[in-house]
Amino acid sequence: MKKLGKYSMGLGDRFGHQGHAQLKAIIEAGNRGIEITPVWNKSNREHIIIGTQPWDVRIEADTVIKNSGFNKSYFVDADHINFDTVDRFIDSSDFFTIDVASYIGKRADEKDIVEFIDGSEEYTGSINVPGTGKKLKSSKSQLRDIAEKYLFAARKAAEIYRKIERLKGAGNFITEVSMDEVNVSQTPLELFFILKMLSEEEIPVQTIAPKFSGRFNKGVDYAGDPSTFAEEFEDDLLVINLAINSFNLPENLKMSIHSGSDKFSLYPYIGSLTKKHDKGFHLKTAGTTWLEEVIGLAEAGGEALDFVKEIYIQSLENIDELCAPYSDVIDIDTAMLPSGNAVSGWNSGKFASSLRHIPGNPDYNPNMRQLIHVAYKLAAVQMAKYFRLLDENKDVVSVCVYDNIYHRHICRLFDID
Ligand SMILES: [Zn+2]
Repeated sequence: MKKLGKYSMGLGDRFGHQGHAQLKAIIEAGNRGIEITPVWNKSNREHIIIGTQPWDVRIEADTVIKNSGFNKSYFVDADHINFDTVDRFIDSSDFFTIDVASYIGKRADEKDIVEFIDGSEEYTGSINVPGTGKKLKSSKSQLRDIAEKYLFAARKAAEIYRKIERLKGAGNFITEVSMDEVNVSQTPLELFFILKMLSEEEIPVQTIAPKFSGRFNKGVDYAGDPSTFAEEFEDDLLVINLAINSFNLPENLKMSIHSGSDKFSLYPYIGSLTKKHDKGFHLKTAGTTWLEEVIGLAEAGGEALDFVKEIYIQSLENIDELCAPYSDVIDIDTAMLPSGNAVSGWNSGKFASSLRHIPGNPDYNPNMRQLIHVAYKLAAVQMAKYFRLLDENKDVVSVCVYDNIYHRHICRLFDID
């Protein structure tokens, strides 16, 4: 059976040009004794917006792995798929993120709900979670609420899983279940019963992506109280352990953190708490690499700088359309966005440092950064020119991509320099 390693990172590479620089960061971590499994992920939404095919990601991953001589495992993730969108990912992917967010809140049959509640008798009242020193209260009415809210979604996850299993064969792929793209977070108690449901459906889930409280905006730091996150995260880790010990689930089941790019204030907690409890994690990054491409082109100056300035100016003109698909995961204060006129006069350094995520740099502008994060479509519609500029400025762009993944992400997560 394919097994995901203890630590893994989802590397989003929208335009498929930076796999080598991303892998270099993984290899450097390996040289420092930290083994991270690289997983290249791309969602159906990104493929549609850019006009790429799932096979493009597989070819990129295989090529960079071969060229680097990397001899450990790696995966290609069909990110956020469902029953209808999974088909074209079957051949090229060996990791599937089954997204059940849209089924949460839909009711399963009353008979199934009752059966689940009856089968959970021993967990009614309170649940002792070893390691937390806490008991989770689980009244019968809470259990009913949870079954009404999640049982249908678990059934749907099973339908999607069985479809993939039928086409690929059991054990030939990694299964993740994601529930993060919803408004309301899941509590540790809910997570416990969701895992019970997935185990009853016999889904060999290796990573689970809950929605945490607080705001996980794309490409910028966490908005919320990091110590509240830490408490919830630790409870979730221990609930996962309890679920592994209580139900039929893979022993390497671990947390997947979505929109994981740039959550710098959480990384010390994610790193230390997983270490404390000897757990792994999967951290999914996405547009942070595309942002580094823009930053690299800005640094390169000349035509490349003009190109990214133009992208910014167009993104201001198309802001509503660009932001709409991401409304749950961005918060842009439009009053803080510099005007197109102002940006036209900027030099390389000013443009790059406005976008580069260095907290404390007075030029850093998280509003501008989030807008560019969702503006990749504007590069996709002039792909030939964009790719030419990336190729011409490969050296400077690769350094930006590498530095970002290695120094700003991996070093913070694993507390190394
Ligand atoms: Zn997600």
